[in-house]
Formats: sequence, structure tokens, C-alpha cells
Amino acid sequence: TPPARDLHWGSYASSASRKEGQEPMRKFKTESKKLLDLMINSIYTNREIFLRELISNASDAVDKLYFRSLTDPSVAVGRDDLAITVGYNSDERTVTVSDNGIGMTKDELDKNLGTIAHSDSFEFKAAQAEAAAESEPGEAKGLDDLTDVDIIGQFGVGFYSAFMVGKKVRVVSRAIGSDEAWAWESDGIDGYDIKPAERAEHGTDVIVYLKDDTADESFGTFASEHGLTQLIKRYSNYVRYPIKMEVMKSRKVEAPEPAEGEEAPAPQWESYTEVETINSMIPIWKRKKSEVSQEEYDEFYKTDFHDFENPARTISVHAEGSLNYDALMFVPSRAPWDMYSKDYKRGLALYSSNVLIMDKCEELLPDYFGFVRGVVDSSDLTLNISRETLQHNGQLRAIARRLEKKIKADLANMRDDDREAYEEFFKQFGRTLKFGIYQSYGMAKDTLADLLLFYSAKEQKMITLDEYLADAPAGADSIFFAAGDSLDRLANMPLVTTVLAKGYDVLLCDQDVDEFCMMAMGTYGEHAVDGDEENKQPYFIKNVGSEDLGLTTDEEKKEAEEATESNAELFGIMQEALDGKVERVVVSTRLTDAPAVVTSEGGMSLAMVQVLKSQPGTDELPEMHLVLEVNAKHPVFATLQAAHEADDDEKVRTYAGLLFDQALLVEGILPDNPLAFAQAVAELMK
Ligand code: ADP
Repeated sequence: TPPARDLHWGSYASSASRKEGQEPMRKFKTESKKLLDLMINSIYTNREIFLRELISNASDAVDKLYFRSLTDPSVAVGRDDLAITVGYNSDERTVTVSDNGIGMTKDELDKNLGTIAHSDSFEFKAAQAEAAAESEPGEAKGLDDLTDVDIIGQFGVGFYSAFMVGKKVRVVSRAIGSDEAWAWESDGIDGYDIKPAERAEHGTDVIVYLKDDTADESFGTFASEHGLTQLIKRYSNYVRYPIKMEVMKSRKVEAPEPAEGEEAPAPQWESYTEVETINSMIPIWKRKKSEVSQEEYDEFYKTDFHDFENPARTISVHAEGSLNYDALMFVPSRAPWDMYSKDYKRGLALYSSNVLIMDKCEELLPDYFGFVRGVVDSSDLTLNISRETLQHNGQLRAIARRLEKKIKADLANMRDDDREAYEEFFKQFGRTLKFGIYQSYGMAKDTLADLLLFYSAKEQKMITLDEYLADAPAGADSIFFAAGDSLDRLANMPLVTTVLAKGYDVLLCDQDVDEFCMMAMGTYGEHAVDGDEENKQPYFIKNVGSEDLGLTTDEEKKEAEEATESNAELFGIMQEALDGKVERVVVSTRLTDAPAVVTSEGGMSLAMVQVLKSQPGTDELPEMHLVLEVNAKHPVFATLQAAHEADDDEKVRTYAGLLFDQALLVEGILPDNPLAFAQAVAELMK
């Protein structure tokens, strides 16, 4: 009879093929087995993380031994002796992860590796796993093959991930203070064996016998120097202990000096092996900013984020309190080429106790700071790799909020202290910030609006909204902007020059997102109305082409209305000639030099519609309500009146068309019928 030990492992398997007197194979607990099946047959694509998991266990085991040594005088280990060793044998297709840590006794091997989860929530999770495993693939929410990933994520992968790549796993371990070693071995299907073994020192070897290669997957690549060093650098670079590996090197064979007159023979090379530490060990983000040189940060950034240029900003955060974490973030100098493509993935690398959990954790960055690269490391996070749980993780959200504030503060500092650099930054990423305001329907305004720069028509340089307001005439209640596709053209637009002539600056917006961003903001800051501090109102952000800029006196308005009234017949013919393109023709209150402008009533401006027109897939354009505003003081107006008086309707109609088309032309918009326009001009010149 087998010893009645660890009854909770369930019944022992009866195996006829086993020799008399040998301990029968131990069976995995039912729940563990279910999970193992899943793991082995998983379509989970990230199989390579098995190495990270084994190294992370090894690192824990070394940690435990180190901490034991601090309190237990019988355990004498020097920190410098502690190490993890990774080895491989390409002929036998094995990968080995060894440590000289605390090791496991026979009982511990049984207990720790015989089941998957030790936590109280296990039953609950197991039930979930079962439910998910039974659901049809099509029923899985969102992602097609979420099921496996999710279940594995729910449990955390741990030691069992070895079975994602291994057909057999052997663990040889010797606990500290024990003189016997034991070997745990399993094919991950039915159960496992524990047998006596040999090991010279305390510690553990995990030997993974890789699965046979299939048409789709070549597990053999894991048993190679290149494969393993890459994975170690990628996932375990900042593990605190050295991860050593024997690597192949080659060197020149020493040759005797050639005799006088003789030619030196071609140099001979020989290969040899050397044990190297593969990981860099010290997480740079854990170090105080004052102790790290900018060069070190730059090197780290360039290596880790594959950039050729140094970062524009380095932001280091060390948070202590209810949630401890370190973060190191960078603002690149240049936007990556794919920044504005659909495939660009934002996010910070997420580490838990120096071990990479996720390459790009989106939840840590808002869209509008998506250009920031960096690392967050926290040992407080109760995390696993499941994406679903990440999204709902309150700790992550708390970190994300804090990091957003840090990024904002750093950018504001750059804006105030290094304007030249900030303008360069804004050239690269300003669009993302403006897009953030637009996309959030203005919600992100509080965070982003004071970071924006626009081209000032008055100052002829980039300014902030606050600078605009600081320079505005007393009593101003608006911020004016003009949108179009070229700064030069905008600067000369009558709509702009007339506002400038009244002493107000105009922000010239030549990016497609600008007007949408301005509209989403709607208002900015606030001012006391008529010097009354009790009565504060926001500044309105207004397109110079919109109907009421609030720059005319009541008298001027009344005068224009009366002039419009008395020319009603003339304007009627003009409007009819324009064939529905404008709602009305009126006498303008705003014009000084130009004969006419086209303005819009309501939301959509001409420039905005041009942007929409240029977007693929916009069939239906929003309705526009345009008004042709005529300058009553311009000689052209007198000509129109004269033609009307002489009953020359034909001339009035032609001129109406010309006025409309040329008003659009100065804004960079082609007439609907350029040929008719050209012909009419030629006719006039005859
Ligand atoms: P986790 O590491 O999340 O606890 P694992 O399934 O990876 O879960 O490992 C289970 C347990 O096995 C660990 O908690 C640890 O006690 C033990 N263990 C795994 N690897 C080692 C090792 N290299 N040395 C000592 N103990 C180990």
C-alpha cells in the first residue's frame, strides 16, 4: 500500500506497468488537470513566456534564500554567489533553468508543483474556467480566441507554462539544509513522479523537454543560444540576479611570428565557450533620477525602445504610499513613422517585481499622450496577463491618473522653460494633443488646452491661448481663429485682416484637426464681465468666418441692416443667381478692403467642410448655411447698384457669381466651375 500522504491529491493511479514496490504515479488534482489540458492544447500564442515564468520562479527562490540568510546564521550565502543559470541542449531538445536558491523538499515538490493554485478564490476560478472552456468559441466575447488566453490569465501562468512548450518537465531540487535531492517529473497529462535524485548543492533545476516541431511551430528554436538570449533580454532583462548562460565565442588562434621574408598565414579562428551574464540586472527606473546620468537614460531609451535619437524628455516617478511603483517615461524627439497609422499601439511596458508582464499596457496612457514610451514597475500589483482583468484594475487606473498628471506637468515645464524645445515637440505631437480634445468632445480640455500652440497672425509666431489672452484688448470676450490650409493665405484673408485691423489677434490654423479642436473646446479660461469679479464668463472661441464676432457696435449693425433693406431687390437677384449656394446676400459690417466675403451661419465653416470633403468615405456633407457679405464702401458695390438701376440683370448675375467665387478663392477654395469663372474674367478684360 502506498503511504497515505497528502490525501488531498486524490486517488493514486493504478498502473500495471509499474514495478513492484515502486510508488505509483501521483495524479493531478482535478482542477489542475483541467487547466493543464488547456495549457497544453492552448492556442495561446505567447508560448515563449514560459522562460520568463521559470526565471521569475528561480528569482523568487533565490530571494527567499537570501532573506533566510539574513536571519538564520546557519545559512551562509553571499549575495554575489546567487545566480540563475539558463542552459540548453539542442540535440536532446532541452532547456534548463537552474538556480542556487532555497530549493524544495520532497513534500514541497509534491505540494507546490502538484496543484496549480493555492488561493481561496481557486474554486471560483476553476468554475469560471470550466464554463469558459465549455462555451462555443463564437460565444466568447469580443476577441475570437479570448477563452484560452483569459483562463490562463485568470490563473497566472507560472510553472505550468513549461507544458506549453514541453512534452515532459523534470524538476530536480535540493532544499537548503537538506542532504537529499528529489526529482519531480511529469508529462503534464495524468500525473507526476517524485524520485530520489542527485544534486551537488541546494537549489533547483527545471528541465523542459521540448515538444516535437509541427508544421506551424518550431519548439526547437527555444533550445538555441540566440533564442534564449533574446527571450532573456526581452522579458527578464531587469531581474535582480545575474542570469548566466554559456555562450559560443570565437577567437583568433595565436600564430607564431612569420620568419623574415615569409608571408603571414591567413589567421585561424577557433570557437570556445564562455559563461556570460545575459541580463542587465539593475532596473534603471528604480534608481533615483539624481543618480543616473542623462546619457544612461538616453542609452536605455534607445536600446529599449529602438529609437536612434535621444528622447526629448525623461520623466522619472517614484511613488510611495498605499501603492508603490516606479515609472520611467520618455517623450521621443520625433514621432515614429507609424504614429498616425491605425496600427500604432500606445502603452507603457508593465513590470511586476522586475519581470515583464506586458509590452504595451494601453490602460496606463490616455490616447492623447500615446506618444510617450516607458516602463512602470510595481510589486504591489495583483496582476496576471489577462487583458480583461487589466482593464478593470483599479490599481492600474490609479497609476495611470498619476502618470498622466506627471506627463502634463513635465510638458508644461518644457513649455515654460525651454520654449524652443517645446515648439519642436509641438511640431511632432501637437496634432495628437489637439486630436485628444476633439475626440473627447472637449472633456480633455482641462488637461490639454493650455499645452496647445497656434500661429499668431499678429506676433507671427506660435503662442499659447494664455498668451493670446494676455495680449488681448481690454474688454475682449473672445478668442478669434481662422482655419484653412495655408498660413500665408490665411494671413491675407479679408476676414482675418479686418479683425486684425480692429486690434484683435487671430490664431491661424492650418492643420485639418484645428477647427474641430477649436469647436470641441468652444470656450477657454474666464474673465470678469465689466470688471465685476462676481460675474465671470468664459472666453468664446470664434471662427472669424462665423456670423457674429461681437466686434460691431449696435449703430454699425443697424446701419448695415438698413442698407441691406434698401438694396433688397438687387440682393434678391444676386441670391437667385447664386442658385442656392448662399442663404442671403447682405451688407457687411466687417469689411474694409475686400469687395465681399463668404461667411457661415451655424456650426460648419467652409474650411471644415473642405477637410471633410478630403476624407475618404464621406459621401454626405453636412449642410452649410453661407452668407455673401458685400462691402458697401467698395467701388464694386457702386457698379452693382448702377447695373441694377440700368436694369442690366445679366451683369448683376455675372458679378454675383464672380464675387462669390473670388471670395472663396482667397480662402483657397476652387470655384465649382473654374472654366465659367475664367471665361467671365476674360470677358471683363476684353
Ligand atoms: P507561483 O510562482 O505563482 O506561486 P508557480 O506554479 O509558478 O506559482 O509555482 C508554484 C510554487 O512552486 C511556487 O510558489 C514555489 O513555492 C515553488 N517553486 C516553483 N519554482 C521554484 C524554484 N525554482 N525553486 C523553489 N521553489 C519553486
